[in-house]
Amino acid sequence: MDLRAIWKNNMEQYGAYPVLIFEGREYTNVDCDARSSQLAHVLIELGVKPGDRVVVTMPNSPEAIVAFSGVLKAGAVVVPVLPLLQAQELRYIFKDCEPKVVLTAEMLWAKVKEAAHELPSPPVIVTLDDAASPRSLRTRMEQAPTSMPQVAISEHDPAALLYTSGTTGQPKGVVLTHRNLYTNAEAAAEMAKRLPTEYDRVGLGVLPISHAFGFTMMNVALLLGDRVVLLPYFEPKKVLETIERYRVTHTAMVPAMFHALCHYPDADRYDTSSLAACVSGSASLPPSLASQFQRKFGCLILEGYGLSEAAPIVTATDPTKPIKPGSVGLPLPGVKVAVVDENGNRLPPNEVGELIVSGPNVFQGYYGKDEETRQALRGGWLYTGDMALIDEDGYVFIVDRKKDVIIRGGFNIYPRDIEELLMSHPDVLEAGVVGVPSPKMGEEVAAYVVVRRGAQVTEEELIEFCQKRVAKYKSPRFLKKVGYLPKNMIGKVDKKKLREWASEFIS
Ligand code: ATP
Repeated sequence: MDLRAIWKNNMEQYGAYPVLIFEGREYTNVDCDARSSQLAHVLIELGVKPGDRVVVTMPNSPEAIVAFSGVLKAGAVVVPVLPLLQAQELRYIFKDCEPKVVLTAEMLWAKVKEAAHELPSPPVIVTLDDAASPRSLRTRMEQAPTSMPQVAISEHDPAALLYTSGTTGQPKGVVLTHRNLYTNAEAAAEMAKRLPTEYDRVGLGVLPISHAFGFTMMNVALLLGDRVVLLPYFEPKKVLETIERYRVTHTAMVPAMFHALCHYPDADRYDTSSLAACVSGSASLPPSLASQFQRKFGCLILEGYGLSEAAPIVTATDPTKPIKPGSVGLPLPGVKVAVVDENGNRLPPNEVGELIVSGPNVFQGYYGKDEETRQALRGGWLYTGDMALIDEDGYVFIVDRKKDVIIRGGFNIYPRDIEELLMSHPDVLEAGVVGVPSPKMGEEVAAYVVVRRGAQVTEEELIEFCQKRVAKYKSPRFLKKVGYLPKNMIGKVDKKKLREWASEFIS
């Protein structure tokens, strides 16, 4: 259950093999294990003690994987930070968790330095990618022992501090133990093992490993002995080329990536026949997009649902059971879910309420935020803040985020319903729906849509399209065609930003 042992377990079970392929080069599990131990020794020399926070902010690369493991092997808590974060966002995290060291890449050095400027306890900022740089740890690492250092920590000690993206407020540091993360990766691996494929498993790592979803999928790959072709970032052409060249059998992506691949004009030119299954997670996958992707690429889409606080996966589609469109599947082995009303009472099947979760994956609390922790963890259950229903067979359907529900004249409207309705229009590519304050109705429904290039459909026609298909009170009062929707770094529609946009409708 100790994440430090993940390489050792992988090597014992599968022997030495090239676990990573990056920019045409292969990296073996033996090499990654040895290098991460060397980094752990160097971090300890730099003064890192068990429980200290070490930020890792790097694009996907073998160095980033070594960095994650190295921090854990030093007994420290890894704080993964998406490399696209701006200096001021990074500074917020530095102030919140006071890292001892920041491991970064040369190209991000100036930004990290700026973020740490004049902090009361500034972190040591070092890089791993360019041995010639004066701040690189590479040469020092080469002289360090390749065996894992002895540090006294247990599976119940914190392993990672994951910052939520802050779509519902200021980012919060989610404290996860070795056991939280290991058991979750194990349970997800158990599900993934059931995937059919006639080829040897080759994964494509295109999600940022600095995000909970990408990080876990990497751990799952190690538990399953997969080979992983790692890409530094998502780019449709690169993804399709990689699938063809390496006969990739499976990958995990967010809905925005499925969308981009479906609409990539040259997609048919690539042989993607090796692709057996793709996992979607992190945001809702419109059923129309799922079936479009499955038709186009002839592969299964398995949807998962999770949140950082659950380390992160809660449910996933079990490929051996019937797939119900629109569902995020069944709870992972060892994880329990229920749906409750406002007073915490359990609701019967098919009734919508807040989804609660318990299991070995549930987090310990928010770093330094006791009140928020008390709100999220009640009576041994994690209150997810997501509205959902569980059907009579135990399948979970996410309805929407509790905070995004629009209350118009006392009636609840789930933005996701309206977004999916709009996306079912042949000219609509994407839709984002939010509530705007209204003195008369409490809130009104505002929609932003991205339409297909050259489409002639008008805003009035789209409102009418909705009015014909849902109760009038649910139809958008305001609708605007836009060139793009604001998204966060993992490709989720940024509802906070969209609400700011929608203030244009307040008279
Ligand atoms: P915050 O707003 O708290 O900062 P975040 O988006 O950064 O949150 P994550 O832990 O990355 O936090 O995302 C978790 C949330 O993503 C879930 O609570 C849920 O709302 C949404 N989500 C994840 N998977 C799915 C899915 N398959 N379908 C619908 N929503 C999903």
